[in-house]
Amino acid sequence: MTSLPIPATTTCPDFGQLLQTAVEQAFNAVIVTDAGQQNGDFCIIYCNPAFCRMTGYTATELLGRSPRLLQGPKTDPLVLQKLRECLEKGRFFQGSTVNYRKDGSSYLVEWSISPVSDAHGKVQAYVSVQQDITARVRAEQRQALLARALNATQDAVLIADKQAQILFVNQAFEELTGYGSDEVQGDNPKFLQSGERKPDFYIQLRDALARGESCNTMFTDRRRDGSIYHAAQTITLLQDETGIIQHYVSVTKDVTELVMRTQELREQAHRDALTGLLNRRAGEKRLQHCHRAAQMEGRGYALILADIDRFKSINDRFGHEEGDRMLKRCADVLSRMVRSGDAPVRWGGEEFLIVLSDCKLHAAQDLAERVRRAMAAERDVVVGTITLSLGVAAWQPGESSTALLRRTDQALYRAKADGRNQVAVAF
Ligand code: GH3
Ligand code: MG
Ligand code: MG
Repeated sequence: MTSLPIPATTTCPDFGQLLQTAVEQAFNAVIVTDAGQQNGDFCIIYCNPAFCRMTGYTATELLGRSPRLLQGPKTDPLVLQKLRECLEKGRFFQGSTVNYRKDGSSYLVEWSISPVSDAHGKVQAYVSVQQDITARVRAEQRQALLARALNATQDAVLIADKQAQILFVNQAFEELTGYGSDEVQGDNPKFLQSGERKPDFYIQLRDALARGESCNTMFTDRRRDGSIYHAAQTITLLQDETGIIQHYVSVTKDVTELVMRTQELREQAHRDALTGLLNRRAGEKRLQHCHRAAQMEGRGYALILADIDRFKSINDRFGHEEGDRMLKRCADVLSRMVRSGDAPVRWGGEEFLIVLSDCKLHAAQDLAERVRRAMAAERDVVVGTITLSLGVAAWQPGESSTALLRRTDQALYRAKADGRNQVAVAF
């Protein structure tokens, strides 16, 4: 080998010796090959102890041999081809592929190979710094697999640090909320709150988490487009080895459909199927609620009981279906005339109850009269006009709701007896 240029970048008088020791003790594996001067193939002319440790060969076994000794079935031919091309052009090469130890076991190696040229620029040798990257690549692959798995799950996953700042959200989160991963990084998840929960709820939740308790909770949150969704959420704490909370992991199931359906069923359970008015059970509950409020707060309430006049004859003349249609029509008139909080109830077949909270007798009487007139003014093309008889009564302190209902019913009976299509008041 011709003499190599001596570097002018050191102040060390015995730099050659220092360099040799440094390479001997380097953590990375280092080999030097010749440039193929002997037999056209590159031969190892130096290897450091780290290289021997990595490959399982002794220096004696390696010296004079080609590095091809380390290659095997899984060594990537494309990487080798690129390596050759680079070296032929006297360029630096960096790459990784599978190599094999003396015992036949494989490892993933990363090479950084530089040509070493003489004073005339002729390549004399190649120095290759190598590293076994098997563990690192496995860890990266594992991490990538976990990220893929998190992204593939149907549930929205959010990971926040101990300051509740978002570090990670998966694709299901993006799809559920409409927020992209990039735009929520570092934010506090409270931007999702819809305001349907009172501040107390969030304070209790925060306290429970601070005590180290994981939580299963229902949230009503808001998407980016402003729409509401219902979320069944599990928040789990991740603690470090000393027990200090470092991260929060929240897994959210979108239960919007389920919640809507439940609300619908609950609503249906309170409604009369034909008219859509409150059914008798819901009406009884409303009456009890109103009665309790009146007893506690001393505010009065009133009842109106309305019954369609001679409805049997409508069924008889026009058929049951037309009768049903008229019941619906009557329900529409009632709903239109009554405050939303005092929703009318289908109390019986063709009998309707209106519970008027915080209402005095004369106001109830006025309303009953307006309802009577409105119904009498309706004219159906098939059936013509139907009329209502109405009984009105106001609660008297100390009176039970049953007694009040009885008085209202008696007033209705009087309205019927006095000729129908009229309002009778119980005094
Ligand atoms: P009155 O003026 O005394 O109240 O006479 P009426 O004919 O309305 O009284 P009655 O209580 O004798 O008749 C009520 C009728 O209402 C009898 C029943 O067939 C009819 N009815 C009850 N529920 C329904 C229903 O859901 N659909 C229809 N089409 N008719 C019903
Ligand atoms: Mg009737
Ligand atoms: Mg009746």
